[in-house]
Amino acid sequence: MASVIDELIAGNEQFVSGEFAPNEHYYHTIAAKQTPKVLWIGCSDSRVSEHQMTGSKPGTMFVHRNVANIVAFNDVNISAILEYGVVHLKIEDIIVCGHTRCGGIAAIEDGVHENYIADWLCIATGAKEAANRIAKERKLNREQKLAVLTEENVKLQIKHLKNLALIRNMHAKGTLPRIHGWLYRVEDGSIQVLVDGRDQGRATPRKAPPRKKAARRRT
Ligand SMILES: [Zn+2]
Repeated sequence: MASVIDELIAGNEQFVSGEFAPNEHYYHTIAAKQTPKVLWIGCSDSRVSEHQMTGSKPGTMFVHRNVANIVAFNDVNISAILEYGVVHLKIEDIIVCGHTRCGGIAAIEDGVHENYIADWLCIATGAKEAANRIAKERKLNREQKLAVLTEENVKLQIKHLKNLALIRNMHAKGTLPRIHGWLYRVEDGSIQVLVDGRDQGRATPRKAPPRKKAARRRT
């Protein structure tokens, strides 16, 4: 009986003959130089394969995946990926993608005691607080609450991303990189856009919003 490792090696032989060889020109082009158009921040979950779900070929996305698609302030790993992606590869679009039935999200909701996982998931505490508030207001059941928590986590990680000095300084000068928030449904393979960043490239550079209190005092 073939082990999973044998299956992977056999799968690669099929990839070389069935995908690489017929598209040799494309693969030789990206072998010479990668020019990915998207920086992907997703969950490590084995069911969430960014290139497959979007029908993309290798070379399309520069990828960072971790438990629960988190953007950590003190994570030199993601910082290095971001710097290389947006500064050197000049990627203009970043996608933060959560997914349904995420074990990390369930662990945030239920609490977890393993040391490293617990510490890591602490970074999503703000999302849990928001989900707690919404669940109470709307009287949500567990499944509905997990859906809200998944969405709030994507929004929170986008906030973290925008607060990193590298991105903040770029946004201070213009609109790039555009940042998108997606949800992947493992039940049917579809993507739901939670935060649509497509308009960011067409907008004018951000200015500080008018100070409402000051304006009121003048009238
Ligand atoms: Zn996950």
